[in-house]
Amino acid sequence: MVSFSDFYRRSIEDRDAFWSEQADSIEWQTRPRQICDYSEPPFARWFAGGTTNLCHNAVDRHLADRAQQNALIAISTETNTERAYSYAELHAEVQRMAACLQALGVKQGDRVLIYMPMIAEAAFAMLACARIGAIHSVVFGGFASSSLASRIEDAEPTVIVSADAGSRGGKVVAYKPLLDEAIELSAHKPQAVLLVDRGLAPAAMRAGRDHDWAALRSRHIDAKVPCAWVDSTHTSYTLYTSGTTGKPKGVQRDTGGYAVALASSMRHIFDAKPGDTYFCTSDIGWVVGHSYIIYGPLLAGMATVMYEGLPIRPDAGIWWSIVEKYKVTHMFSAPTAVRVLKKQDPEYLRRYDISSLRGLWLAGEPLDEPTAQWISQSLQVPIIDNYWQTETGWPILTLCNGVEKQTSRFGSPGRAVYGYNVKLIDETNGEELLGPDQKGVLAIEGPLPPGCLQTVWRNDERFVNTYWKSIPGRLIYSTFDWGIRDKDGYYFILGRTDDVINVAGHRLGTREIEECISGSANIAEVAVVGVADSLKGQVAMAFAVVRDASGLTDDAARLKYEGEIMKHVDSQLGAVARPARVFFVNALPKTRSGKLLRRTLQAIAEKRDPGDITTMEDPTALQQIKELLG
Ligand code: ATP
Ligand code: MG
Repeated sequence: MVSFSDFYRRSIEDRDAFWSEQADSIEWQTRPRQICDYSEPPFARWFAGGTTNLCHNAVDRHLADRAQQNALIAISTETNTERAYSYAELHAEVQRMAACLQALGVKQGDRVLIYMPMIAEAAFAMLACARIGAIHSVVFGGFASSSLASRIEDAEPTVIVSADAGSRGGKVVAYKPLLDEAIELSAHKPQAVLLVDRGLAPAAMRAGRDHDWAALRSRHIDAKVPCAWVDSTHTSYTLYTSGTTGKPKGVQRDTGGYAVALASSMRHIFDAKPGDTYFCTSDIGWVVGHSYIIYGPLLAGMATVMYEGLPIRPDAGIWWSIVEKYKVTHMFSAPTAVRVLKKQDPEYLRRYDISSLRGLWLAGEPLDEPTAQWISQSLQVPIIDNYWQTETGWPILTLCNGVEKQTSRFGSPGRAVYGYNVKLIDETNGEELLGPDQKGVLAIEGPLPPGCLQTVWRNDERFVNTYWKSIPGRLIYSTFDWGIRDKDGYYFILGRTDDVINVAGHRLGTREIEECISGSANIAEVAVVGVADSLKGQVAMAFAVVRDASGLTDDAARLKYEGEIMKHVDSQLGAVARPARVFFVNALPKTRSGKLLRRTLQAIAEKRDPGDITTMEDPTALQQIKELLG
């Protein structure tokens, strides 16, 4: 067995040979002519000249060995339904969906917008697009009509696949009226809408445009739709970033590079094998859902669980009951979900037999050490943080346990993943920081490895200017996250570059202060932002949700606890980091993907307009904060 360090080094120093071997993890119709064409930096063309198909590799390829094994397990605690599809059944359903899309006029290269709840048909639609070479653009189900409209205009889809409704916490959210309104608002009109009617909400059908999936499917029940062999660089999908820092960016992904990167990650990061069962609690509306609900597990011949519902309904044991029932081997979730569980009775985490589980991977936001410790002790399985972005499609920093077993260092997502030439850069002069424990911008030297964005959809200029030109004097990809690396190569994310606080000339990551405050036993979650201050430039301000509010009912108790937290920060980080105020709130503003909207908190604290909040989960969370700040 090679050491991880050697494996990593080879991926950078002997790049083409390394990725040529990884390319064998998928099936090609024609082998690539070239491994990486980087003749026009920063645009990388991976496996140029090769032809392949994502759906072939995710579905058809497995028919010979595991046609009768589970491929997709769709569970909804909203409708109390559960259905497992074998690879053979998935193959049939995807062909039916592909035939329907073709009947509605979809051709190779056309876009199909998918605005769906977490139901099996959403997976069929994504795979059907891949099968016929259409480009899918999944929009998180339940997004407001204005957000949906702008994505329709950007993608210009031939067809939109949707459903009558989604459901959340037992409350039906009708999608069709939102969709109709969005199409109304949009300058681009799709030729057709394919609607999956779940019988949850009335859905008015527009004659000539709207088609019922069940009816159309029955006409294509025996459909045989071959996989279209597309060029490795053929766009497989577009997807928006979460919009945490502003207007979401439309990420464009290729086919061959993505397939190779994911197949390789299943083996080297997740140490997964065919027949294992993967349960990722994200949503197909996010990159984690694309990579690790749909494509990654299926490329690896695993069964994948698709879950519609909350982590605490009917009770906080629901996820672990799924793990027990389906013998889940790999679980993937987000720190925000763990913090939700942390507010519940920990007994639920011990009620089921979860001995099949080999690890819980968490991504999307910083995983603070206390939260990592808590879930690790409660579950007694390895907890593995992983850091990446919609742009990269798969982890940049984590542990590669399939290469060499490593143990987590809580607070750190781990080391640079193979293929990523990660550097810390001094953003003022563009110089690389080589020594340990120096703070800088996390950047990636081109070419980005396979699987990463090809460009910003229809906007090469924005791709180059946004990501590659922010650091003076060099063409390097900026993650816009701020980090530090210890002497063993473990990274720590300190916050986003625009979340760095400058107090009287000291530069502090909001993350450092948050981590410190969340160490206090009664804190469930906390957000720290820098707020303009006439004297110090900026001061830190904290917004905290407590686990148990019973002792904090009056001002005196709150003030006392606020004082204790300030003292704690003083002693851990020094007085410069001490928040000027700690506000106790019921909820923090988040994106629908569960990320803290610090920029929104900051804007409110500075009495500015909060800007684009279309991706916010619950805008009422801002009300209490506005009141507290007067
Ligand atoms: P936008 O780019 O539109 O502002 P976003 O950056 O939140 O939104 P995503 O691509 O969903 O969109 O999120 C990627 C970001 O999430 C990373 O750049 C980083 O800031 C944060 N992140 C993801 N995983 C981790 C992690 N394990 N630890 C710390 N931060 C993480
Ligand atoms: Mg981002």
